[in-house]
Amino acid sequence: MSKTDKLRALPSVDEVLRSPGLAGLRDRLPHRRLSQWAKESIQFCRDEILAGKVDQNDAWLRQIVQLIERRQQADSGQAIQQVINGTGVVLHTNLGRAPLAKAAIKRMEQATGYANIELDLESGRRSKRGARVAKMLAQLVGAEDAVIVNNCAAATMLVLQATAFGKEVIVSRGQLVEIGGGFRLPDVFVASGVKLREVGTTNRTYLRDYEAAIGEQTGAVIRVHRSNFQQSGFVTEPSIDEMAALDRPENVPVIDDLGSGCIADLAALGLAEPTVSASVACGTELTLFSGDKLFGGPQCGMIVGRKRWIDPIRKSPMMRAMRVDKLTLAALEATVEIHLAGRAMDELPVLRMLAADQQSLRDRCEELIQTLPDQSCIDVVSCESPVGGGAIPGATRPGFAVKVYGRNANRVARMLREGNPAVQTRVTDDAVWVDVRTIATEEMEDLRQRLADVLGQVEVESDE
Ligand SMILES: *Cc1c(COP(=O)(O)O)cnc(C)c1O
Repeated sequence: MSKTDKLRALPSVDEVLRSPGLAGLRDRLPHRRLSQWAKESIQFCRDEILAGKVDQNDAWLRQIVQLIERRQQADSGQAIQQVINGTGVVLHTNLGRAPLAKAAIKRMEQATGYANIELDLESGRRSKRGARVAKMLAQLVGAEDAVIVNNCAAATMLVLQATAFGKEVIVSRGQLVEIGGGFRLPDVFVASGVKLREVGTTNRTYLRDYEAAIGEQTGAVIRVHRSNFQQSGFVTEPSIDEMAALDRPENVPVIDDLGSGCIADLAALGLAEPTVSASVACGTELTLFSGDKLFGGPQCGMIVGRKRWIDPIRKSPMMRAMRVDKLTLAALEATVEIHLAGRAMDELPVLRMLAADQQSLRDRCEELIQTLPDQSCIDVVSCESPVGGGAIPGATRPGFAVKVYGRNANRVARMLREGNPAVQTRVTDDAVWVDVRTIATEEMEDLRQRLADVLGQVEVESDE
């Protein structure tokens, strides 16, 4: 049969859309999406024929319906939905970093309709958006003032532009980082309209390097916290205290780009991370950090520091382009209240998960396994949970995981991921690891059901 004949045998879009095999999808999906997928699927078959990859020309309709179903599955896997995080990575960038506290979710819900975002209910007058949360935030970290933007990347750009536009910003060569997603510090400098003035070397930068670089052209000095990589060996750099004490003109601020936004000292958990209040207290003019890393709140960027420097930032025209929406503001407000009340360790999921003790994690794993119908080839094992997500690079916490082995690990992981609710796991050494540290207690029953379901479908492989 010639290619032309084969092409002629392909059904039309209308025929595909009318086919009984698509009845279910026809009811659920907008006509436009379905016909788009039909067109794409027919085109796919046409390309296969033209490429000479097809022998037979029967059952086109059935094949095309299958192609459409696959497109639909891929599409629903992209729709935003709950994911049970069985990876143990507490700040998982691909899973939206910090899960919110219950109080933050509630406050956010209250803001979804009309809410007093720019209205003072007491006086009946217009109020400044975010003024209350900024005040509380400043109080929390011991700063004079605070301002909130979309994320820490926005904070960095805004601060550079506001403090040093057209001038030099001094930074150590050991801190010229890429934060991820193509956000590279040298590019950020260019985009913010400031000139990069590198000092020191990759591994060693001294206070005197900064001192020697400060001059007429200097707009600011910045310290970028290494929150996504480690340096060890023959390395040195001045502490933020030493940098804040640098001899410099009074219009040259020291900026501390902290990123991780650690509020309470986590040394008790064996995690060494500088706190925001320490950065403020040592005399830096501006400190920047993310809302959705160790701070445990919604995605946003916070700039705290001296009023003299915050004021012009707040009034900058860029500020209007980077301000956060009411939902973020609401979630942040509740999160800051939790920090201020000293309840962060109990109420913020990120900190609670980091602090979870080994015994309770082990108990949860054992309880999970004992309630599964099929307990073969499944064990409770100790593991290390990474902090992840641009905070405390390389740091882990000792915990426990449920390990599923002896079955096709990739298949088990894929089925867990593709079901509802989705479960993201780790595959290591031909086994699927479900680390319970990052799974909320109220998610455990769902997890149990998903595991029972998937293990019922994927058989234990024999040894040969
Ligand atoms: C994570 C991080 C950023 C970026 O923060 P986002 O809130 O993701 O934009 C900037 N600087 C440092 C040092 C960081 O760790």
